Amino acid sequence: MRQLRLAALMTEKATLLYEDGKRPGAEANMAKLLASEASWKAAEACLQTHGGYGFAEEYDVERKYRETRLYQIAPISTNLILSYIAEHVMGLPRSY
Ligand SMILES: Cc1cc2nc3c(=O)[nH]c(=O)nc-3n(C[C@H](O)[C@H](O)[C@H](O)COP(=O)(O)OP(=O)(O)OC[C@H]3O[C@@H](n4cnc5c(N)ncnc54)[C@H](O)[C@@H]3O)c2cc1C
Repeated sequence: MRQLRLAALMTEKATLLYEDGKRPGAEANMAKLLASEASWKAAEACLQTHGGYGFAEEYDVERKYRETRLYQIAPISTNLILSYIAEHVMGLPRSY
């Protein structure tokens, strides 16, 4: 729940910066990272709550489980977000 709130706050910050004509690359990347982690945690809780039924196709939980994991890969992977933050926010040398 805390992660969801953080993701929402960071999304709002990125949106406000964008609307203000700024380039919120760091904030947008961080919002996406936090949101992908929040959705994956929600999927984990959902699967655990449903137990074995979570694997039954007709409950649609397994589909959501798979699809929430997607956000750590696409449209941009977690590794590339961390690389972006390392390079553009922390000023570290590009790692690849
Ligand atoms: C369901 C789905 C829908 C999609 N829809 C679209 C679409 O509509 N339009 C579109 O353009 N694309 C789309 N894509 C593609 C998507 O944008 C890419 O899959 C995504 O950007 C990841 O790139 P990749 O698949 O080449 O994986 P890769 O970039 O090869 O990543 C593979 C692994 O290597 C890691 N990795 C890659 N580079 C680095 C690095 N420099 N340092 C450390 N680790 C690294 C990644 O984090 C990941 O774990 C879609 C993909 C999926 C799965």
